[in-house]
Parts: sequence; structure tokens; C-alpha cells
Amino acid sequence: MKKLLLSMAAVALLFTACDEDKNEITQDQEIDMSDFYVYTDIDTEEASKQTQGKESTRSCYAMANLNRQLNENPGLEKKMFEVEHHTRKFLAAKGKPPTAGGGSGGGSGETDVDVLPIEDNLGIINIPVYIHIVYPDANSISNAQINSQMATLNSDFRDINTNQLPSGTTFVNDATDAEFSFSLAGTFRHNDSKSSWGTNDSVKSAYPPITPETHMNIWVCEIGGGILGYAQFPGGNQATDGIVLGGDYFGNTGGAYGLGRTATHEVGHYLNLRHIWGDGKCNRDDFVTDTPTAGASNGGCPTFPSVSCKSADMTMNYMDYTYDSCMYMFTDGQRNRMRAIFTSGGPRAAMVGN
Ligand SMILES: [Zn+2]
Repeated sequence: MKKLLLSMAAVALLFTACDEDKNEITQDQEIDMSDFYVYTDIDTEEASKQTQGKESTRSCYAMANLNRQLNENPGLEKKMFEVEHHTRKFLAAKGKPPTAGGGSGGGSGETDVDVLPIEDNLGIINIPVYIHIVYPDANSISNAQINSQMATLNSDFRDINTNQLPSGTTFVNDATDAEFSFSLAGTFRHNDSKSSWGTNDSVKSAYPPITPETHMNIWVCEIGGGILGYAQFPGGNQATDGIVLGGDYFGNTGGAYGLGRTATHEVGHYLNLRHIWGDGKCNRDDFVTDTPTAGASNGGCPTFPSVSCKSADMTMNYMDYTYDSCMYMFTDGQRNRMRAIFTSGGPRAAMVGN
């Protein structure tokens, strides 16, 4: 499988290079795409077995869902390769090289790298949101619950949440303002007696997204199987673009996943962030320089340091699997990566200025 992926990647690179001005070909060749991957080892059945009945494991189906979409849509892998290539090209042109050790509180980890925020001239990017409530009683999710979810997104993506980094962490200077805001553009309530929607986008077929090129669509419904949510990555089919969240994990609901951070995590995927451990062991990365390499996800609320791959894991990052109250940061590297998709030629550029 790996061999096939690599050769596909090479073909895709060639295709992209031929598409552009001759002057840019040299630059394209300098963009290293050798570590790019889309398929992960986890499939839907495996993910289900791993998460059932384990309260300490956050259960996100974004990668399992991506595997399914890749199998069903042969063109998706190339599309995602192009999105990644655009991101890397933009960051290479705009970004300053990361510095080792600076600004990270004098940490001891070998992967202690400080990335600076890029200047993309986009200011605070506002994302208008449509919310589809799909339940037998669609009024069971109150406006107050919706507003609490919007408030969490707005504080988490501006780094103004009230959670504190534990003492002794080396990541004290890495939490950043990603400069995104979210505005509620509309709520659509659908009374539907279906008791469980699963993870195969069926809720999106029943209630299609509204103008997904300019709005982020969120479906709130009973997913089933203990699944908290799943999101679609940039580059996917517009008809299924958006995020699905279980109502028990949407907004302030109490419990380990009751602060609305399932949405923060899934919006991270929607904005092109991978899981912080790269959905693989130490040789798999999340394509972000200032997040340490991790060998697996972390669950619960780990005491610092939780060490894997010879360095402390950033368990408090929104893209890990820890409890809501124990995750509270994006890094500058993640910020830059999310914002790159809104720049000219990026897959969500049409959202800017709406
Ligand atoms: Zn996830």
C-alpha cells in the first residue's frame, strides 16, 4: 500500500507542477511531500472495537470516515495531496524557519521547536455557521446549549479560555491565538425519529449542507456507538462538507466531554489539522513542526509529562484525545496550517470576506 501511495504522490506532484508557470516548477520541486499520507491504519470496525465502553478514550471518527471516503472516491487522495501541497508552498514562502528551543520555556524535549505566526493579511477570519439539529424532538437542544457551543469555539480559537497550563509544562509559551471567530448564521431544527445516524454521512444526505463553500455546517444528532463526532477535511466532497456532533457532547453539557471541545477538535480537522500523534507511531507526524512527535493518543487527564517518542506529549492540545477540561491549546504551527487553507488558491478561500 505504501509503495502505491508514494507513486501516486509522485504522479500528483508532477501533475501539479505541469499545471503551473514554468517559473514555479523549481519552487514546486523544493516542497517536500515525502511524508504525506491520507490513509491510516485504523478502519471503522477497528475504531469501534477500540472505543466501545471506554469512557477515558475520546472517540473521534474523522480518520475512519476519511478512510471510507477515500475508498469510495478515487479522486479524493489527489485532491488532498494538492491541498497539502498548497499549504506547504504557502508556509514555505511566508514562514520564517522554526527555531529550536526558543520561547518554549527552556524545555528539555528534543522536539522543542518554536514556530512563529505567519503574516497572511487575513486578520481575524470569521466563519459563519449553520447548525442542523436532527432529533426526534429537535427542541431538545436548546438555544442556550447552542450559544454555549459558539462561545467555546470563540474562546478556544482566540486563546481566551480560562483553563490553565499545569505547572512544570514545557509548552507554556506555545498556546496561541489562532485568530478565528465563529458567528451563528442560522439554526435548522428537524424532527426526525431515526434513533442513530452512524458515521457514514447519512445525516448529511438527509439534511444537506447549506452553501458549504461559504458556511461551516454542523449537524447535531445521535451518532451512536459512543462516537463523539467526526469532521470532513478540506478537499472533500461539498455535499458532505462539515461536522457531525453527538448532542451529548455539544456545548456545555457536563461530564468529561461536556465543555464543547469535541467541536473545537472537529473544527480543527475541518481546518486541515491531523491528530497530534499523526494516527501512527513515532515515525508518523501531524505535519506541524511545533507539536512534539507522539506515539499514540492520550486519554483522560494525564499528569505532565506524558512521554512518548523520547519527549513529552502535548496532551493539552485540542487535537489529542484528552478530557475537555484538560485540553486548551493550539500552537502557532497549527494556527499557520489552518489559516493557509483560506489564502488564495486554498480550499476554503471562498469563506474569507463573508
Ligand atoms: Zn479527531
